[in-house]
Amino acid sequence: MIKNQTVIVEQAKKYDSFYWYDEANMIESAKTLNSDFEDVTFLYSIKANPNPHILDTIFAQGIGADVASAAEVAMAYSRGVKKCNIQYSAPGKTRYDIESTLDKAVIIADSFHEIELIEEIAKQRHEIVEIGVRLNPDFGFLGGDGLPSKFGIDESLVLEQSHFFKSLKQVKVVGIHVHLRSQELDANVLKQYYANILSMVSRVEKALAITLEFINFGSGIGIPYGLEDPKLDTKTLGIAMKELLPKAKVYIETGRYLVGNHGVYVTKVVDKKVSKGQTFVILNNTLNGFIRPSMAQLVESYANKDAVASEPLYTGKDCFAFIPLTEETDTEVVTLVGNLCTATDVIAKNIQMKKLQIGDLVVMTNAGSYARVLTPVQFATLRPPVELYYTKDGQILETN
Ligand SMILES: *Cc1c(COP(=O)(O)O)cnc(C)c1O
Repeated sequence: MIKNQTVIVEQAKKYDSFYWYDEANMIESAKTLNSDFEDVTFLYSIKANPNPHILDTIFAQGIGADVASAAEVAMAYSRGVKKCNIQYSAPGKTRYDIESTLDKAVIIADSFHEIELIEEIAKQRHEIVEIGVRLNPDFGFLGGDGLPSKFGIDESLVLEQSHFFKSLKQVKVVGIHVHLRSQELDANVLKQYYANILSMVSRVEKALAITLEFINFGSGIGIPYGLEDPKLDTKTLGIAMKELLPKAKVYIETGRYLVGNHGVYVTKVVDKKVSKGQTFVILNNTLNGFIRPSMAQLVESYANKDAVASEPLYTGKDCFAFIPLTEETDTEVVTLVGNLCTATDVIAKNIQMKKLQIGDLVVMTNAGSYARVLTPVQFATLRPPVELYYTKDGQILETN
């Protein structure tokens, strides 16, 4: 039995494929972070899943917003999240992006050009604008040397160009943001990474002769996908962070931790056939309903060694379980495909599964983050999956 199986099966009478989000689990994850980390403000990365009910639930837990576009700024601001807890970090912001969000979010500048643009806009408005700056540290996520990056400004350039920062008239740098990697499951790795960020912060404060008001450590907090994956020890990490705590306000961002494991994708067997001895089970909306399992197949079919993560499109092998909802006990070897007119629409090849009949349901796990948002639901103009939000009181709220 999967959680709330009876209610899920009931919904499948109305929909051929749908996302199922579990509010109670999301609240529990939010409470875990808030209680394991003292004096840290968490920001939810809206791009993981902008479902309006998810946003309401998460913000109600006192979590702020990590936003990646002007539209995401509006989603958080209109829900009453305070400006200081909406941090807008993305490369390549346009003048429109900056002008339309300056009074609603803390802009995390991603380049020298962006800082100049903000200075110019601030001058026109006769305002002093406080910003954060995203840095590309001189060290890597696991220590060692830093790498070239399209994100942020190199730490070494900030140190060299301190005169640029000191010459700013209308822009005041009050925060530093770093985000190097997602999906880490080892608390010790994250602890060392946080400590390295703090040494960088001291170097920057000294070079620019400023005292920062906030440090945003970005994400990194991972979740179990495969059955073998451990759970990140957030308690230990919280204690480590407490020992490190600087004077400045501390933010940590996370998308997947709050939602990733708390959504499933439910789809239906629409056909079944045998071709040259191979059994194909055809499911409604796979690549065009929940792209990540098809993407994983694609990446793995090209990789001749262990494929490396390419977040958030590809995390690793065997990240999604395909759970057949059937009373059947006999098994068979099948290939699971979707109903799109492309051969790329494969989610599993030759796997042993309980025998499925047309009309049976298959539940795919870990569909709470980077799922519907990444999926080309317009492809072939098939009827897209709806999103069903199962509230803690047992209500079902539909979107799309
Ligand atoms: C996407 C993103 C995140 C969220 O990453 P998760 O692995 O889902 O927690 C956090 N910070 C930044 C800057 C991002 O771009």
